[in-house]
Amino acid sequence: MDSLPFSLPDFLPGQVWLVGAGPGDPGLVSLLALHAMRHADVVVYDALVDQRVLGLTNAEAIREYAGKRGGKPSARQPDISNRLIELARQGLRVLRLKGGDPFLFGRGAEEALALVEAGIPFRVVPGITSGVGGLAYAGIPATSRETNSAIAFVTGHDASGDVPDTVDWAALAKAVPVLVFYMALKHLDRIAEQLIAAGRPADEPTAVVSRAATPAQRVVVAPLAEIAEAARREGIEPPALVVVGQVVTLRERLDWLGSLQAATSASG
Ligand code: SAH
Repeated sequence: MDSLPFSLPDFLPGQVWLVGAGPGDPGLVSLLALHAMRHADVVVYDALVDQRVLGLTNAEAIREYAGKRGGKPSARQPDISNRLIELARQGLRVLRLKGGDPFLFGRGAEEALALVEAGIPFRVVPGITSGVGGLAYAGIPATSRETNSAIAFVTGHDASGDVPDTVDWAALAKAVPVLVFYMALKHLDRIAEQLIAAGRPADEPTAVVSRAATPAQRVVVAPLAEIAEAARREGIEPPALVVVGQVVTLRERLDWLGSLQAATSASG
């Protein structure tokens, strides 16, 4: 990192850096994220952080797991924020490492607010969110001119673990041609039903992308009305994204990862 033609900010003792680790592939980690991993004294990481990314942290850094499992009540969130504050007050360089982007369904905002409240200096390092980068690894662009000029990121879970009742399904179904759902596998039947009831075509192309940008990535494509059943049949496991809309059809031509893998196994 010392050979870069520009300098990166110093990670100072007593600071917390809230860093996005991206969806999985360690090559998608940013220079700032790598810099933070090289200099951190302690790394507080989530379940979604890929082991290969975690392996980039310096060997002396203490690693603390602070993961929560999807759907469980977030009782431990204040504990995590308090832990970050405690570690920073010990004068450590505290790296808070989260999957994807820390400010997108990652509770980064809550943690940052707690740091502000406690007067702890912090920096936010955005990461590639799974709902964009993970889809790209499945050959599904977030937008294309022929399919959509808008996109929505929606959570399939609220804090109680239920389908969020703050989502205006009718408005969403009508206004937004491409919907990307995070944390949606558990309630996929209900989400699909609500979308169809709100006017989305039952045969609208839908994909589930599980463990995107990792060697275990799997993609299932089916009409909206059948996607939940298809995901069950294929034994799809979380973490997974669900994408509804015409962009899904582009995967037929844009599955670059599948093509590269086919070429490698053909030549090998
Ligand atoms: N901050 C994260 C999202 C955290 S919410 C981000 O920006 O990506 C957790 C949800 O993210 C999971 O339930 C799943 O929907 C999605 N997710 C995260 N990583 C994923 C991956 N590698 N593959 C598929 N889905 C992923």
